[in-house]
This record gives sequence, structure tokens and C-alpha cells, in this order.
Amino acid sequence: MYPLTPLKLFAHESIKDDPLSRARMERIIGGTRPVDDELVWVDNSNMPEVVEQLKSLWPPDEVPEGFERTHMRPLVFTRVYTDGEFPELNKDLLGWPDGTDEATVRSILGHFLPIQAYHSYEKDAKEDMVCWPTFDFGLMTNCPHGCHYCGAGKHGKYLTIACNAEEHMEKVVRPAMERYPWQRCFRMIGWGAEMLAFEPEAGIFDLFTKTLAEQDRYGYFHAASSNVDFVADLERKDRLVGIFSVTTEMIAEVLEPGSGHAFDRFEAGRKLGEMGVPFRYKFKPTIPVVNWREEYSRAIEYALTVSEPESVGFCVIMWNTVDSLLEKIDEELLDPVYLQAARDAAEEMAGVRVGPYPHEVRKEVYRFMFREVRKHSDDVKLYMSTESRAMWDDIGEETGQDASSFFCGCSSVAPPGGRVQLSQGCPYSTYRAPEHIEKD
Ligand code: SF4
Repeated sequence: MYPLTPLKLFAHESIKDDPLSRARMERIIGGTRPVDDELVWVDNSNMPEVVEQLKSLWPPDEVPEGFERTHMRPLVFTRVYTDGEFPELNKDLLGWPDGTDEATVRSILGHFLPIQAYHSYEKDAKEDMVCWPTFDFGLMTNCPHGCHYCGAGKHGKYLTIACNAEEHMEKVVRPAMERYPWQRCFRMIGWGAEMLAFEPEAGIFDLFTKTLAEQDRYGYFHAASSNVDFVADLERKDRLVGIFSVTTEMIAEVLEPGSGHAFDRFEAGRKLGEMGVPFRYKFKPTIPVVNWREEYSRAIEYALTVSEPESVGFCVIMWNTVDSLLEKIDEELLDPVYLQAARDAAEEMAGVRVGPYPHEVRKEVYRFMFREVRKHSDDVKLYMSTESRAMWDDIGEETGQDASSFFCGCSSVAPPGGRVQLSQGCPYSTYRAPEHIEKD
């Protein structure tokens, strides 16, 4: 696992009497180099005090030589709540002061969702998004990478790790696979998290791949990490597909401070290939930085020289306005011509999900990327991730794929092999809304 250097370690008392959770926590702690190695047990009596500490511990004023600031976030170990609705919290009854932050309390108690639905046809029709409906699983929140363009990465004050993975498989993962027979592939992704950072100590992908095998399904890790050596020892790695969020050297170095060199992920792809595990690349977000053409063409060349992914996709940075983008990324890092185009289009793009870059700018970026990929591979599948219908209508053909049934990265119906396996519950991508759903 990553050699994290957490400022402090906390564990909810519910772990104490659960031997499997406790063993998982101890394995993970054994893989870290904590600044303060005393484990603080949290119960109702010290909850407000711990919540206050979590508010202020990270970021530290000073980072010792050889440490990475973003790897110093405190770790909170808990058990994710798997019994349906979260219980009410009566702070008065518990004697907690008024200001005790409920979101932090709920994280410590493991009150975050163990499964979430994304990209329903209804939602994607409303938001004009082309993707695939899916149910995803998670046992962690927040991430040690600290990516500037990601809220959880940049601002998350601590990482929460749910240790009851066996219970999660039993009560959440297996029942979901039974309930949704149409879904062929499931993501174990966490929420704004980097779950690979904790392997093999966490042992979550061992359990997950075994559960997938039992249910005759496939599963994804979704990572901006190159920590894949553990995959070689997974008994059921034949059920795993690796999805890598990839980027350029400059972006990894400046905007993803805790994630390692950009090309390490392509080397990780190569290693998976040698293990016989399929993998796919997703340049998400694709950021029009200064010199973006040179940056991306170097990354694409490296990716396709050292490894053979099943697909390569792109998503020009979206979900932003010009102002919110500039809060995350320094203006001098961005291509000035494209930034000006975004500024000029600010009115047109107000409230538009794919903003701030207007259609023509995004289109030019995609076309460049497609050409670069095709210089090195004639047959790798190309795709755009979570783009608008208009973009698929305009340049979808250039991917060589059908907008309704394209093979991408983490689709719910894309088992290994480069072909989607459409099913009755998922007959096509969200490019097409089923007849009963209004687009507007
Ligand atoms: S890779 Fe495919 S399924 Fe995954 S987010 Fe992108 S469009 Fe959606």
C-alpha cells in the first residue's frame, strides 16, 4: 500500500469487538508511518473533541522533509452502515455541543452509502449526459492524492476507511448482484476515494473478485494509482478489469501531488497486461493546459507504446464555470486561448454541465486526441466520457463507435473483450432515453 504518513489515527469503537474489521485496520496501520502512532478510540463521550481535531489537524503548517502533505491526512477507521436508513442523531441526548459537525460525526459512525446508483436514464436525460446506468460500491471516502480539480482531494480533511468488508460483501454486494441481473460489471470505487492505495493490506479486491466470480460477473477498480502488484496474487483476478484515470506528466506533477508520475500508470497497465488482466485508460479530466498538445501527445504515445489497453477515452474538464475552474487550477497553467474562449462563452455556458469550455473548443480537443491515439493504434476503442448528446451527434462517428452502444471504460455492460454485452435492463447507453422518459 502507499507509505502514508497520517498525522493521527482514529477508530470507532464498533471495530473493537469485530475481529475481522480489527484485523483489517491493524494490517492497514502496519503499512503506514504515522506521525503520531497512538490510536484514538472514538465513542459518544469523546466524539465532539475528535470532530474538532479532524477539522483542524490537516493541512499541517509544516511538512517534514521527505513527507508529502496530501499523504498526511488523518485516517478514521469505522464500519460502514449496511442496515438501510441511517439512524437519527439526537445531539442533545448525547450531550454534544451545538456546533458538532454532523457530517464528520456520520463519517466516524460509518454513515455513508455502501452502494450508490449513477447515471439513471432519467437523470442523464435531464442533465444531457451520455454514459451508462450503474450501481457502484464503496468502502472509503476521500483520497490521499489531493488532486486540485477534485473537491474531496483538495479539501478533504481526513480519509475514512470502512473495515467491515466481509459484511459489505454479504449484505450489500452479493444482494445487489442478485437484484440487478442486467448489470454485468460493477465498480468498487468508494466516494472520492482511491481504494487501490490500501491494497493488499485492505484485502478488499480479493473479497470483491471472489464475490464477482461466484455471481459470474466482472468488476472494476477505478484508480489514479499505479499500485497494482497485488493483483498478481488475487485468486480470481480473471474477474477484474483495471480502469485507470490517466493524465500528462505536468498535470500529474503539479495538479495531482499525491499520485506519482503520470507514466507510472501506463507501466501499471503494462503489468496488468502481463498478468492477463484487461485494462482501459480514461484521460479524465482532459485539461487544456499550456502546451496541451505536446503534453497529451507524449502521454498517449507512451501509453500505447508500453501497453495495450482495451480502450482509451477522454473527457474535457467539465462541471465548472470559469470562476470555479480558476479556484482549482492556477490561471497560468491553462492555455490562454482556450481560457479566453471559455470566458467569451461564459453566458452561453452558464448552468451547462459540460462547461466552462464551449462545444467547439471541446470538439477540437477530442479530435486532436483521437488523431494522436490513431497514430499508435488502429483498433483500440475510442470514446468520450460523460459528454453531451450534441457532441456525440457531431463527432461520435470519429470514435468509430455507436453512441447508443459504445465500449468505454467503466460501463456496467462492458466485460473483458472490447464488446458491450447489452441486456434487457440496460439495452443501450444513456444517449437514448427509453421511450417513457422525457428528455427535457
Ligand atoms: S467510461 Fe463510460 S461508463 Fe465510465 S464514466 Fe465514462 S462514459 Fe460513463
